[in-house]
Amino acid sequence: MPFNIWGHTLPEMEEWVVSKGFPKFRAKQLQDYLYRRYIYDFSEMKQLPASMRDMLKEEALLNKPEIMSTLASNDGDTTKILLKLSDASLIETVCMHHTYGNSICISTQVGCAMGCVFCASTRKGLERNLNASEMLAQVYAFKEKLDAPIHSIVLMGSGEPLTNYEEVLRFIRLANDPGLLNISLRNITLSTCGIVPQIYRLAEEHLPITLAISLHAPNDEIRNRILPVSRNFKIEDVVKASRYYFKTTGRRVTFEYILIKDINASPENAEELCRLTGKMNCHFNLIPINGTEHIQLYPPDMNEIRKFVSILEKHGKSVTVRRQMGDEIQAACGQLKRRFLSDK
Ligand code: SF4
Repeated sequence: MPFNIWGHTLPEMEEWVVSKGFPKFRAKQLQDYLYRRYIYDFSEMKQLPASMRDMLKEEALLNKPEIMSTLASNDGDTTKILLKLSDASLIETVCMHHTYGNSICISTQVGCAMGCVFCASTRKGLERNLNASEMLAQVYAFKEKLDAPIHSIVLMGSGEPLTNYEEVLRFIRLANDPGLLNISLRNITLSTCGIVPQIYRLAEEHLPITLAISLHAPNDEIRNRILPVSRNFKIEDVVKASRYYFKTTGRRVTFEYILIKDINASPENAEELCRLTGKMNCHFNLIPINGTEHIQLYPPDMNEIRKFVSILEKHGKSVTVRRQMGDEIQAACGQLKRRFLSDK
């Protein structure tokens, strides 16, 4: 079976190259072709001896996804691509262009089992886990085209990263590898619905990545309506695990909170949220919901949002309201894929 040479650290490539009878330094040359010069045709790798190029043609393959569709927002700040994987699965990746650099939002699974009511990625459930090399390829799909460097990566596309733990951890290490993306761990954010045992496990890795937890509610009753998976984990246990993450890693946790009119955005909800998190050192990222044709959920108006923010701030909380990027290109996860499939 051919060896997929995409998505390995330099020591791993050296081991494979040596096992094929070539000197170790050839691995570095191969890595340079793949990750710096973006040359993927073995015949074009002229610095490698002909015997090695022949070996690569016979024994190696490059499983890189194909871009099926691209959409850019009118202001040019957000670009979304639909990628086809080697088994024809479709996934979405988003690039947000900030003044300080590009941020890439990747998917970690095809589909998702979590069932969040506002999310198109979960409509067909979980199809399969992505492997680390498929996650890496999503970032390179943008990196090859961008003039500006990649500043950060967020694992916030389709999928629940903590239910694909080993491959996600491997991807994080590849992204941080100086021979590959060389992204600081501090600039990597992993977003989870709050899979409590896995939060404790991740804390024990002592990686200084940012943990973003989709809280979306101040109590179990509301949370269970928005995030069905939360029935397995009480909201107090999610907050307790978040405190442990901060204590163990020193990294402040971000609570993601989708604001939905008449569901979780009242002043009472804000007060309850403050009681739930107490004096915890955390950050709230409020996201007014993106209305789509598939769901009857709407964002609160500006006054309601301001009131919600002011209550949190009165209690000393750090708060941001996320700018809605790329509404017109359907940036919420899973929506480009749905549109592509419905056009077929
Ligand atoms: S929001 Fe994230 S965790 Fe929830 S269903 Fe969508 S992809 Fe899954």
